[in-house]
Amino acid sequence: MLNEGFRESMSFRECVDRMVDRAIVATGLDPSTAKIIQACNVVSQIKFPACVRGTVEIFTGWWAIHSSHRLPAKGGLRFAPMVNQDEIEALAALMSYKCALADVPFGGAKGGLLINPAKYTEEELRMITHAFGTELARKEYLNPSLSVPAPDMGTSSREMAWLADAYKSIFPEDINQNACVTGKPLNHGGITGRVEGTGKGVQFAIREFFRHPEELEATGLIDGLAGQRIVVQGLGNVGFHTAKFLTEEDGVIVIGVIEQDGAVVNPDGLNIHNLRQHLAETGGVKGFAGSDYSENGAEVLEMECDILIPAALESQIHANNAMAIKAKLIVEAANGPVTYEADEILRHRGVTILPDIYVNAGGVTVSYFEWTRNLSHMRFGRLQRRFDELRGHTYLHALEQLTDKTTPDKLRDEIVRGASELDLVRSGLDDTLRTAFQDMRDVIKHNENIHDFRTAAYTVAVAKIAQSYYDLGLANPGGKP
Ligand code: NAD
Repeated sequence: MLNEGFRESMSFRECVDRMVDRAIVATGLDPSTAKIIQACNVVSQIKFPACVRGTVEIFTGWWAIHSSHRLPAKGGLRFAPMVNQDEIEALAALMSYKCALADVPFGGAKGGLLINPAKYTEEELRMITHAFGTELARKEYLNPSLSVPAPDMGTSSREMAWLADAYKSIFPEDINQNACVTGKPLNHGGITGRVEGTGKGVQFAIREFFRHPEELEATGLIDGLAGQRIVVQGLGNVGFHTAKFLTEEDGVIVIGVIEQDGAVVNPDGLNIHNLRQHLAETGGVKGFAGSDYSENGAEVLEMECDILIPAALESQIHANNAMAIKAKLIVEAANGPVTYEADEILRHRGVTILPDIYVNAGGVTVSYFEWTRNLSHMRFGRLQRRFDELRGHTYLHALEQLTDKTTPDKLRDEIVRGASELDLVRSGLDDTLRTAFQDMRDVIKHNENIHDFRTAAYTVAVAKIAQSYYDLGLANPGGKP
């Protein structure tokens, strides 16, 4: 939550627009094209009834399509008690820029349902989600060709399966029906690696940053990733998987976790699996063994650490606490965790920020893989895996004959192994995040007005979207009507 009594002077959507303005000004994009790019194409408010425990309740949801220069438009669907239209429009805009930066050929969209999921049983949630899905499908906001939702805050593969079921009940003859939504369970057309895809992408983004000594030096981070002390806000899908991969595979130490009921701290490191288990059992982090608990989670955002990873909500770092943030690097795993005003303050303070549209692009990237898998009706690697294995055996056999040496078993297994679907998904995800990072660095290198990753990320994205509008004749580089 924002500090009590605190009000940011701009809404979330205005924050996103102002951040994009910086890229537009720095690159001299003509104002007419900029206007076309920044406008949200469609936003619908949907009210629908559902009968819960014998009483009819009217639920309110939104679906926004920010851009449809590429179709389908893609975005997460969040279930939350505080969701509103401004937030959904802001998040839909972020999706347009994110897809462009990550070279995912989709427009940007986002949806939300005003609901506190904790108040309903699983069966009630299924029925409400099915009813919302039916409304979305009828309006073509749930559609394999036009508009494809995915999990976000408060939703998971379970809700995606219910949405797909709603679509199938209206369009049973659609052979591509599975592609109407991504993030589905594996048994219902999902792809291996999607559940943890966003967190894995956050890890790949951080690893790529740590491959560049000059970036580390500028940020004040020394040595490698191992041993860096991190604080994570939000131990949900994205926060948990990010923390899990960074601790298990890169030797990072999670010294603080902030959740809705407060925060827990241990300078020697928190056991992320046990903490997640504790959170699932008790609904909070309070009482987690071997940690100090603070009711005031916001304080822990400001604690001394190397990397701060907000992975919960928007507007968590704002004008009132930006001066107090002590992390050297902020990695925006959540969408919009830093407001425009806080971003200005942090940039002037020299704090490095890896922006949301880069950091959490892993989710939509793996969703893109899932969608193409659904359209091809075949898992990745099915045709060539055994062929690759056979070829590996042939090469190895030839090598052993030529050198008269035997390959150790472990190396043999690694050489002959054909790639699994997960290998391919991870490889594609890693490649996407490395390429996007290089694109941002190139912008900074070649444009003397741009010094930060956020403006660089928006510059890459806006240039690609503008080109797409130019190609379609919907705008022209001179900005003439
Ligand atoms: P989630 O619902 O799985 O987890 C959110 C977590 O944040 C929960 O554990 C919740 O208790 C916690 N939280 C809520 N309010 C909080 C507060 N005030 N302080 C501290 N913790 C709080 O959601 P998620 O899917 O992990 O999404 C988190 C963020 O990542 C969102 O901004 C979302 O838009 C973004 N994101 C998610 C995905 C995805 O694939 N799920 C992809 C891209 C971006």
